[in-house]
Amino acid sequence: MDEKETENDKGIKAIAQALRAGGTLLHAACPVCDSPLIKIQDKIYCKVCDKEVLIYKDEKELPAEIQKAMKKNAAKTSATETSITKTINAKIEQLRVKLENTDDPDEIIKITEAIDKLLQTLEKASES
Ligand SMILES: [Zn+2]
Repeated sequence: MDEKETENDKGIKAIAQALRAGGTLLHAACPVCDSPLIKIQDKIYCKVCDKEVLIYKDEKELPAEIQKAMKKNAAKTSATETSITKTINAKIEQLRVKLENTDDPDEIIKITEAIDKLLQTLEKASES
């Protein structure tokens, strides 16, 4: 009764057309609209979105420059985390020595609070 096709009908028609044209239906679904993806020659398309979809099984299939960028980021993060952890541990050790050598109750409280905060930060740093 309605002459206008729904998006879904259009998609199904487009998929059927692509299959007739030699495309292969894949077992993977479009990450955007969840429609079945079609492989045409060496490229994968979502006929519903009318877009080429890039699918990678693992990092090794990613373009070299993306792999490089990912590695750089990962290395940067872990290096920062390690140095933060190192610094905090060093500070805790410094405070521990100070605590050992002081008899001043005020200082003892201050140092204990500082150590407590550092330990909390350390915990947070190791969680992320
Ligand atoms: Zn799609």
